[in-house]
Amino acid sequence: MNIILMGPPGAGKGTQAELIKVNFPIPHISTGDILREAVSSGTKLGLEAKSFMDEGKLVPDEVIIGMVKERLAEDDCKAGFLLDGFPRTNEQAKALDEVLSGLDAKVEVAINIAVPDEIVIQRIANRISCPSCKAVYNLKFTPPQKEGVCDKCGSELVQRSDDSEATIKNRLTVYHEQTNPLLDYYKAQDVLYEFDGYRNPKEVFADIKKLLESI
Ligand code: AMP
Repeated sequence: MNIILMGPPGAGKGTQAELIKVNFPIPHISTGDILREAVSSGTKLGLEAKSFMDEGKLVPDEVIIGMVKERLAEDDCKAGFLLDGFPRTNEQAKALDEVLSGLDAKVEVAINIAVPDEIVIQRIANRISCPSCKAVYNLKFTPPQKEGVCDKCGSELVQRSDDSEATIKNRLTVYHEQTNPLLDYYKAQDVLYEFDGYRNPKEVFADIKKLLESI
């Protein structure tokens, strides 16, 4: 199944992706994770992307589209994929449709996780994550058992450098201007499914699971 996961920063896309991955065997492709890995290993892509990410801006379409095209051409995507954080602009959505139609495929499910801005800001201020296994924790609501250490793999937890209050405001503005309008694009294709993300992640996942099992 070809799935895209949408929603503002802090909606819980990463958490839901982890849960989806366990239950449905398709590769999880997070453009944010790919970019963060490129930044930390200092590749050309990372050097290009870093300043945009630090300012809460989108990395230019041509860079992201090329990166996603390459990833979707890999063998493990033949039976489907879970795209997280892509598309984020009209250009990206059109490019994705083009790539998929060349493979005689299409986006089958667009999941939107909706969360109000004030909750996004609160969540992000308390978010820490694992750079190794990508597990996400909230210091208030879902803290790790041992402070600063990932429950799942034992790595040291970090706060993302773009999770500062100033950057998150930019990321929300960009989201409302460029990404939120894509919901209409997928609604018109009759593949949009919306979920209230202001709930316990397990409750959100129970609804997503029901949907995916019914398709
Ligand atoms: P995320 O982890 O999805 O919140 O992404 C973190 C940052 O990576 C974003 O704020 C952007 O700077 C960049 N990024 C991730 N995905 C995309 C995308 N599809 N288009 C442009 N920039 C992206």
